[in-house]
Amino acid sequence: MSGSGRLDGQIAIVSGASRGIGRAIAIAFATQGAKVAVLGRTVDGLHETVRQCAGLPGMALAFACDVRREEDIEAAVLSVQQTWGRIDILVNNAGIDDDTSFLEVDRARWRDIIDTNLTSTFVFSQEVARVMKQQGGGVILHTASIDGSGGDGPFAAYNSSKAGLLGLNRTMALELAQFGIRSNCVSPGFTKTDMTAAAAGPELMDYLENSFDRVPMRRLVLPEEVAAAFVFLASSEASAITGIDLRVDAGLTANWYILETLPKSS
Ligand code: NAP
Repeated sequence: MSGSGRLDGQIAIVSGASRGIGRAIAIAFATQGAKVAVLGRTVDGLHETVRQCAGLPGMALAFACDVRREEDIEAAVLSVQQTWGRIDILVNNAGIDDDTSFLEVDRARWRDIIDTNLTSTFVFSQEVARVMKQQGGGVILHTASIDGSGGDGPFAAYNSSKAGLLGLNRTMALELAQFGIRSNCVSPGFTKTDMTAAAAGPELMDYLENSFDRVPMRRLVLPEEVAAAFVFLASSEASAITGIDLRVDAGLTANWYILETLPKSS
């Protein structure tokens, strides 16, 4: 089926699409007419994403890929080219978190987080940008985080990986513009996914979903709301936008939260 979708006929790769934000991006892209390669390690989850894209104007295909393995990334890029002939959009979304204090964080865990969240993005982007340069252009997007721009609890490795993405994104934008390639980040705030639920637990999750005082909109962001930002940045509507970090955080980072935390005067 084809129509007047914002991404009609575009070929996209979305990593970390076996659940959460990545699945929502894949569904949103397929809704707008894109053919989407959905990547991750959990094959059942990828197949569920493919199932949820069935019947939409676009479509999805599953490709097993551990983004920490360069050979998996190279194989995935080749498979997508062999399947659909080109790559128009790459979304580096796969990510893991960690909540160990700075003094305690294990060095192997540090490397795992940097490898998964940052190094994989460099490798994937380099592979795909080489293809896009030959094609004459494309769009590369990254799921960063509000944690890339500010400290937030015991997340030294995670925060560093996301801050690294913001720097990588800006440099990619500068160097790749001459080849017609745009590069942008989306930084979600606290979003309703398994990652958040696992870190928060059920009681805190209920608070975050319904009254989250720290956030002006008093709630979690939904994966579909993050995905909408990706659709915009991937589409021709964003043709002059490169090198930015678009925050989708229900207002969280607009509030420095100073007055609210001062001691009450008697
Ligand atoms: P999630 O539900 O835990 O999903 C993470 C995704 O990343 C899964 O599809 C997972 O797939 C994939 N992944 C992890 N390690 C991978 C690896 N080595 N190779 C391939 N895929 C891998 O988390 P989420 O909340 O949707 O997070 C998605 C992205 O948004 C992450 O980059 C995260 O840092 C970012 N983010 C999330 C929030 C939030 O509040 N949830 C806020 C800001 C930013 P497999 O396990 O199947 O491999």
